[in-house]
Amino acid sequence: MAISSIFMEESQVQQGGRPELAGLAALGFVDERGNVQSVENWIFTLADREVASAIAELYGGAPEETNSPKDHYIRVFTERPSVPILLSGPEALAQDFKMWANKQLTHHCDGRVYLSPDNRKGRACGCPPTLDEILQNAKDGIGPKPEVRVTFSLMDDEELGTFQLKTGSTVFARSELFRVASSLDRIGGPAVADMEIVQVTTKSRKQFKYPNITNIRSYSDAVAEPRG
Ligand SMILES: [Zn+2]
Repeated sequence: MAISSIFMEESQVQQGGRPELAGLAALGFVDERGNVQSVENWIFTLADREVASAIAELYGGAPEETNSPKDHYIRVFTERPSVPILLSGPEALAQDFKMWANKQLTHHCDGRVYLSPDNRKGRACGCPPTLDEILQNAKDGIGPKPEVRVTFSLMDDEELGTFQLKTGSTVFARSELFRVASSLDRIGGPAVADMEIVQVTTKSRKQFKYPNITNIRSYSDAVAEPRG
């Protein structure tokens, strides 16, 4: 056993364990009736009270301890629809496609080959060749849905740790993902961006929200900018 993992176990005993991610960002939450409610400003869920207080101090809101059994059980409804974030590089963005049936993951792929389970990994998954077709199948309930994960830290306080935004938004997958991935590839290293909640009203006056990553530039350019 590696020494680091021994220390890990010891600290878990002492402090109840520290999850890998300091927190998650979300643009919705599940209310008491089990319905998903979307919000105008970012929600952060945190594992640690000190981190939760720091988030509230930076972005408004007050830490609220929920009875969620998950690691990130402290919630802060912030007052910010946009937060400056730091991305380590192209690997900060990950996408896969998942289909669930009876709480079982029945199709998990990258759009081309299976990613799990191990005995299917690497084999052609049978999804159609274009993203549009994959998203259409997802919409029709006959194919896996996109899941994008953005791993980031906060420009305002990098020390707070690593956070993640997970989104199944088809608008983001269809219209924004390629641009974000290309920008990160072009920069090829640490980058700075704004994580935003975008509100849209359709022609039929239906409202919806989706997350976006905008204003992506290299970290070194960003820190050279005059502040204010
Ligand atoms: Zn597939």
